[in-house]
Amino acid sequence: MKASQFFIATLKEAPADAEVVSHKLMMRAGLIKRLGAGIYNYMPMGLRVIRKIEAVVREEMNRAGAIELLMPVVQPAELWQETGRFDKMGPELLRLKDRHGRDFVVQPTSEEVITDIARQELRSYKQLPKNFYHIQTKFRDERRPRFGLMRGREFTMKDAYSFDRDAAAAAKSYDAMYKAYCAIFDRIGLTYRAVAADTGAIGGDLSHEFQVIADTGEDALVYCPGSDYAANIELAEALPLIAQRAAPGEMLAKTPTPDRSTCEDVADLLGLPLSRTVKSLVLATDQRDDAGDVVATTIWLLLVRGDHQLNEVKAGKVEALKGGFRFATVAEIVDHFGTEPGYLGPIGTIRPVKVIADRTVANMSDFVCGANEADFHYTGVNWGRDLPEPDLVADLRNVVEGDPSPDGKGTLAIQRGIEVGHVFYLGTKYSAAMGATYLDEAGKPQLMQMGCYGIGITRIVAAAIEQGHDDRGIVWPDAIAPFTVVICPIGLDRSTDVRAAAERLHDELAAIGVDVMLDDRGERPGAMFADWELIGVPHRVVVSDRGLKEGQFEYQGRRDAQPTRVAVGGIAAFVKGRLRA
Ligand code: ATP
Ligand code: MG
Repeated sequence: MKASQFFIATLKEAPADAEVVSHKLMMRAGLIKRLGAGIYNYMPMGLRVIRKIEAVVREEMNRAGAIELLMPVVQPAELWQETGRFDKMGPELLRLKDRHGRDFVVQPTSEEVITDIARQELRSYKQLPKNFYHIQTKFRDERRPRFGLMRGREFTMKDAYSFDRDAAAAAKSYDAMYKAYCAIFDRIGLTYRAVAADTGAIGGDLSHEFQVIADTGEDALVYCPGSDYAANIELAEALPLIAQRAAPGEMLAKTPTPDRSTCEDVADLLGLPLSRTVKSLVLATDQRDDAGDVVATTIWLLLVRGDHQLNEVKAGKVEALKGGFRFATVAEIVDHFGTEPGYLGPIGTIRPVKVIADRTVANMSDFVCGANEADFHYTGVNWGRDLPEPDLVADLRNVVEGDPSPDGKGTLAIQRGIEVGHVFYLGTKYSAAMGATYLDEAGKPQLMQMGCYGIGITRIVAAAIEQGHDDRGIVWPDAIAPFTVVICPIGLDRSTDVRAAAERLHDELAAIGVDVMLDDRGERPGAMFADWELIGVPHRVVVSDRGLKEGQFEYQGRRDAQPTRVAVGGIAAFVKGRLRA
């Protein structure tokens, strides 16, 4: 490829709305162009990266036995009504009407359509297992589209769906996808971690997220350096930090804490470690009648240690809260506790509340909590003596660095990640809702067991940049760089030798299958180098008159501090040797 026949549009400055480095660099390198909130044009340079990612994904999916098809972007609402998702999904689902007033959706994912295909096409056990996938445009009207391709509204996803006879066979399909995902991210050349993920309403333990390690990631990943334990923080189990409750050592005392409403401030004032304080969070659950009207509300007081954070996903798994909870309103709080948030606690509420203590809090003694009176806290609080035992004890908090690993093999560490893939065992959720059955050997209809497997193709572009960049620009892994090698001739317009040598090298590299770009724009060296460093091409060869006189080219890897001089005759082999296999 020659630059004069391609489209290069780099910018000095990133637009003001670009917050994270990948978004900034993608805009500056001319990979994408914004069309609307969370909607981008993939410009020629960016599309090359996307196509390379797709190619790796496609190859590994095919190798794993998955079969490619293509389902429509716009899908009739009927199928989505069958599973109930047309009504249940929030505004993230883009709904539209055609000229006849019929409802449609723009696909955010394709379980309904693939299950509809499966129930028509897969009739016998002899046709199973099957795994279908497509690489297709998705639309999700995200509440906060941001960070460029990281969280777009329109994006490209590879989504695959497996159909099996029974749970054991489905676990095999799941395993094959898990391995294919490892192969994909290994080949792309990213540092990643597969972590156990929350399975929500489906339950079970077959769900893993593939997370690219990056400080800017939205997800917190918990792992144990001494073992293979790894889980999203939403899921990671927090063991009690106190094995057994100690006997009370202090008397209960109501202590003035004027204007100190946070645990930090109270600990500070009292000269106590934060780990002696207990934080109060108030939730509400509503009971509704058949008409959907609220007939009763229960108020729940959740207690976590002052230095811990409530984990809402875990709270949602407490049996009594499973039906759905919300944070209580200030009016409800005042009504039950007699005071506003800031000084709440389990002792002396004015109306009954149910207390759920985190496992660690349940074993604390001599702790500090709000006194249900503005500007006062209790110190020396002890379960059983000063207040009844908690109604429930549960794992309610996020783990923190240094917590014991749930597998007993050391302590936990935390790092941040960007979710680029997700493998998920679905069971019969969709096949049951849509009547997707096959006939077994005895001719009896059986529900198909399903799994779904997504990869955020366009999000990978952003994640790769978050992981690979420096102050000059992007540093692509070879496998997905828009071009693998760039030839930068100096004084191309003045020197026929330089032009001829550059073109010869270009043709030679292209002939051995290297994705090579020859910058024949006639730019000055400084501007030319800056462009390609910004764009992030991993290998550069400089051709100059001076070098040619000595029979040499200059090679420099994108991360190399210094160029390497290479004899003209040996350059193609040298470059080839530097490429990641
Ligand atoms: P998130 O928690 O980030 O919203 P999700 O759980 O909704 O992701 P899935 O429904 O599992 O994601 O989608 C599969 C993959 O699609 C994700 O792993 C991610 O890589 C990608 N993806 C999801 N939402 C977006 C988005 N708004 N923009 C870009 N990629 C996305
Ligand atoms: Mg989402």
